[in-house]
Amino acid sequence: MAAIELRGLTKVYPGGVKALDALDLAVPDGEFFALLGPSGCGKTTLLRTIAGLETATGGSVVIGGRDVTGVQPGGRDIAMVFQDYALFPHMDVTDNIAYPLRIKKVAKGARRDKALEVGTRLGLDQLMDRRPGQLSGGQQQRVALARVMATQAQAFLFDEPLSNLDARLRLEARTFLKKLQRELGVTTVFVTHDQAEALAMADRMAVMEAGHIRQIGTPAEVFQRPANTFVAGFIGSTPMNLLDGAVRGDTLDVAGCKVAVPASAEGRLSDGERIVYGVRPEYMAYSAEPAEGALGGKVVIMENLGASHLVTLDVNDVSVQAVVPEGSEPGIGDEGFALPRRDRALVYRDGELV
Ligand code: ATP
Repeated sequence: MAAIELRGLTKVYPGGVKALDALDLAVPDGEFFALLGPSGCGKTTLLRTIAGLETATGGSVVIGGRDVTGVQPGGRDIAMVFQDYALFPHMDVTDNIAYPLRIKKVAKGARRDKALEVGTRLGLDQLMDRRPGQLSGGQQQRVALARVMATQAQAFLFDEPLSNLDARLRLEARTFLKKLQRELGVTTVFVTHDQAEALAMADRMAVMEAGHIRQIGTPAEVFQRPANTFVAGFIGSTPMNLLDGAVRGDTLDVAGCKVAVPASAEGRLSDGERIVYGVRPEYMAYSAEPAEGALGGKVVIMENLGASHLVTLDVNDVSVQAVVPEGSEPGIGDEGFALPRRDRALVYRDGELV
């Protein structure tokens, strides 16, 4: 087990793409850490550089206190699970799990014992003689995990480990993977583009944009207090309302309405300055009646979210969204008022959280 530390890590691909830009990150021993961000932001490059499958062009990778920047992948004592699981189609489950042990020249009997022990732990004991083609996506994923576990590496790296599973299996696998990581306590970094997955599974997470880390925190911190408008717009199943506004004395002028200064920004704003006001649709109290401090307008769109509705209001030509509980949803064209929660609304100045 080991902490992973990246110091000023930079990766410029031949041809000039800067995939990682002087990135600093410390993942403590035993943590389950998620890397999240839009396509092309550098997640996979970061993981592959930790693994040694890509060479850093600057900075260093330190694992368990040892600088491994110049060390080959085999010498780093970490195990990686790829998106496609990279199982050998001609080998059965036992041989697939035991493969890394064969490379390490462990004797055949000991290899089989270890494969069965780890396979049993992952519920594969009845399937040890099958080949990958005879397994479901979820079972293949377990084989890939078992192979990683059999190596007893210091750290695990997962690249979109659940992306090949259907929606239901994915949910099951999430819980399973989280539980397993807890039990093993092995430092794990996993890449995902699915924020629900990161929020549900990670102890902490990083949100990346164009080779930079834009925020590091617990899922709750990143969701409740996005550090900048990029993270605010990226995280959340319904995007946060990010509305241009200005400070007017001790209130805010947002979309032509008078809104209270959020608790977190109190005493930190100057009269007249321009800001961006952020509030999640989930943190609005919706009403058909006017209320002081509410954003009022006409209902233009209604989307069914299952147990609730997402209402889009046109507030003086600005779109404002609010989540409305089942049973109290308005009709298109109705007048509606969305009152932001003062303890949950946020203010951004020059894109950064105030
Ligand atoms: P996705 O979510 O789509 O997998 P990602 O966040 O994992 O994306 P990377 O695959 O790390 O992103 O790519 C980061 C940037 O580096 C992208 O601009 C990509 O086009 C570029 N890139 C990746 N691999 C190479 C390569 N081998 N040669 C040149 N450029 C590359």
